[in-house]
Amino acid sequence: MSVDTTEQSVPTPSSGGPLVRLEQVSKRFGDNTVLDRLDFSVDAGKHVTLIGPSGSGKTTILRLLMTLTEPDEGTITVDGERLFPASEKRRREVRKKIGMVFQQFNLFPNMSVLRNLTEAPVSVLGLSKDEAEHRARELLDLVGLADKCDMRPGALSGGQQQRVAIARALAMRPKVLLLDEVTSALDPELVAGVLDLLRDIARSTDITMLCVTHEMNFARDISDQVLMFDSGRILESGPPEKIFGDPEQERTREFISAVL
Ligand code: ADP
Repeated sequence: MSVDTTEQSVPTPSSGGPLVRLEQVSKRFGDNTVLDRLDFSVDAGKHVTLIGPSGSGKTTILRLLMTLTEPDEGTITVDGERLFPASEKRRREVRKKIGMVFQQFNLFPNMSVLRNLTEAPVSVLGLSKDEAEHRARELLDLVGLADKCDMRPGALSGGQQQRVAIARALAMRPKVLLLDEVTSALDPELVAGVLDLLRDIARSTDITMLCVTHEMNFARDISDQVLMFDSGRILESGPPEKIFGDPEQERTREFISAVL
């Protein structure tokens, strides 16, 4: 399978800086400090994987980037544009640059597969129906589901639904793709196909990826950088060969051997 790299190529961010940047970001729910003065950035075209125990704050980072929740402190910028504070109009503009794929697919159940892919490009990006359908069919071909256009998501397997969700995210031509444990709701035999698709997208496009995963082999394959989280902080970070081969922290070693 190949991916049209020209369609997905990510230009240098307009600011010239990192595409995604978090500076001293804290997030609390009541007394629970979920993110504690977090700093990191992701350059355009890079693939960054967030690993670490459940509850360490990884999903909260993706939710902040999607503006589904707000930080208590700190600065978050996407493509040079600050997310908080920002008007709802500005946030909508920034959100157009971000695609997210969730654990539970979150497809529109009452729409056909094709319509799932055309709805936002038409209503949010203003594409014509024809353009959106053309693009949707290309993407469904890419994810191996060209023959499922007219079906409802509920008639597909979990793995197929997740492929549709990935295609739907790409249909918006995002600069950044956020992936939140996208295989953890799948039956084991369906996991490999979805991970192979994502490997292919990572390898053959310039799209920037931020990926929360417990799939360590996948993380090792696709990542430029791995961030190991613990209790809302980055315990250590580095290229996959370092984090998986020779981590500095015993906690990282223990975590990786427990989930591998
Ligand atoms: P991870 O993705 O690493 O498993 P999360 O970011 O989902 O971690 O959660 C981090 C912590 O924040 C957990 O303790 C979780 O219970 C808490 N949390 C997340 N969302 C909410 C919420 N909406 N209200 C209260 N607590 C939350």
